[in-house]
Amino acid sequence: MIKLKTKSDIAKLREGGKRLGEILKILATKTKPGVTTAELDDYARELIKQNGAEASFLNYRPAGSRLAYPTALCVSINDEIVHGIPSKRVIKTGDLVSLDLGLKYEGLFTDAALTLAVGKVDTEAERLMGATREALTLAIKAAVAGAMTGDVGAAAQAVAERNKLGIVRDLAGHGVGYAVHEDPLVPNFGRAGEGEKLVPNLVIAIEPMFTLGREETKLLSDGFTFVTADGSLSAHFEHTVLITKDGPEILTLA
Ligand code: MG
Repeated sequence: MIKLKTKSDIAKLREGGKRLGEILKILATKTKPGVTTAELDDYARELIKQNGAEASFLNYRPAGSRLAYPTALCVSINDEIVHGIPSKRVIKTGDLVSLDLGLKYEGLFTDAALTLAVGKVDTEAERLMGATREALTLAIKAAVAGAMTGDVGAAAQAVAERNKLGIVRDLAGHGVGYAVHEDPLVPNFGRAGEGEKLVPNLVIAIEPMFTLGREETKLLSDGFTFVTADGSLSAHFEHTVLITKDGPEILTLA
């Protein structure tokens, strides 16, 4: 069931989203060669606390899962698409690192992610990141009141196809705000005019995930980390977006 947000909840989502954007921006500056992914998670927890918020992924149990997510931050490197669990793994020059974070602020949930290159990466990795970022921009642009989730998906899909990239279809964007994941599902592919209707006061997380290779995914034995089945690089960008009568409003900008 789709739950629209009230005016006062939207105010809280705006404030929480801004804080999330700022935290991610700081974490991006800390993502350097020699840093472990667990250290990034520690930074994330500290910043969340300083912001009077809670880490919404920590102990989150996805529908159908026996396991609760063990950390605040998801750090997914190279062929890891999403939900990489912070560990003693050391970040190296040339890594493609995705940081994904969920915040609970005054009871309301926001979600955002970005991918960054650590030092110099090859032109194919740059191309993948640029196209995935562009897909997020264009998918958000398509998220106007009266449009359908299929319009959002079609906008992302067009960018992937134009750039001959794989679209991760096993994972999707989603409603957010009263929980980490809510209806509707917002796939990164689709047909214009199909799916669920976008209406004012709906809040969705839009999150294209593309690969340099094929689209199939594999879940690692940790129960959370999704990797590309063919080992190809992947990128992921995400914003929490409010649908308004005047157009989409990105809530998770710093
Ligand atoms: Mg999400």
